[in-house]
Amino acid sequence: VENGNKIPVAEGIFTINEKGVSLIGTRCISCGNHYFPQAISCKNPRCNEKRVEKVLLSKRGKLYSYTIQYYLPPPPFRMESKGPYAIGLIELPEGIRVMGMLTGLDFEEIKIGMEMELTLERLYVDEKGNEVVTYKFRPSR
Ligand SMILES: [Zn+2]
Repeated sequence: VENGNKIPVAEGIFTINEKGVSLIGTRCISCGNHYFPQAISCKNPRCNEKRVEKVLLSKRGKLYSYTIQYYLPPPPFRMESKGPYAIGLIELPEGIRVMGMLTGLDFEEIKIGMEMELTLERLYVDEKGNEVVTYKFRPSR
């Protein structure tokens, strides 16, 4: 296996390659609308073709909104950390908003409109010693 023992927390959400992590979305071949998570067909009511293709989404975007969570996420998002964490809505250049955990900054540093970039982080180590990873957004530098 190319990526050692790093395994994604869920299938079909993101891919890990030599350039890091990319989110997997879909793009409508006819109207160009993007979707994340992947859509089976285009949801634009004014679109007549509806055929979509799989694409890798931009790794950078702007923070649109966020919230601080004090409870643990639902499975499969097990976490090592028990503390509160931030979840943000990131607006990508494709015109869609993607939800993800925020990392690499304190809660008081979070500002609407700040530039964020995709990163990969460990959630926990499973029973077989695999590193279970997920995508997160960190301030872009
Ligand atoms: Zn369409």
